[in-house]
Amino acid sequence: MKLSTLTLAVLALTFTGCGVESIETVDGEVIEEIPEEPGEEVQALPAGFLGNTTCPFSGKQVDPDSFYEHRGERIYFCTPQCAIDGSKDPDKYRSQVYAETTPVGNTTCPVNGEEIVDPIPAYWQGHEVSLCCTFCLNSFEDDPETFVLAALDSLED
Ligand SMILES: [Zn+2]
Ligand SMILES: [Zn+2]
Repeated sequence: MKLSTLTLAVLALTFTGCGVESIETVDGEVIEEIPEEPGEEVQALPAGFLGNTTCPFSGKQVDPDSFYEHRGERIYFCTPQCAIDGSKDPDKYRSQVYAETTPVGNTTCPVNGEEIVDPIPAYWQGHEVSLCCTFCLNSFEDDPETFVLAALDSLED
């Protein structure tokens, strides 16, 4: 399933920022590698982070505080300067970082908790959520982040 691939990718990113790595040499000696610039160590993305995880310019992990907003979506970058540069062509980077849409696969509506019979798709930051009706679509558009998180949460029940 696509969602689990995404989750794994996020987890993998989380663990690349750990800093100290042990490397074993040929003769069994263990060397501890200390990052060259500890001040620039990448912070793990917060739990529930729903944005793109890599900067479209550098390919590095994004900084959760470096983004621009475009039509209700946030496009994340590794530095504030990247975000400023990206915002000069907002559509371009929006379609680049959210080129693929991952179906969440929820079976209950995140807005009102109803069982979904004829799913209405709703999209936000690369996620496709199923809703039960067009009334819920209006509510979704008012606060998409909350309802994408609720849809993801409903999978764990
Ligand atoms: Zn960047
Ligand atoms: Zn609904």
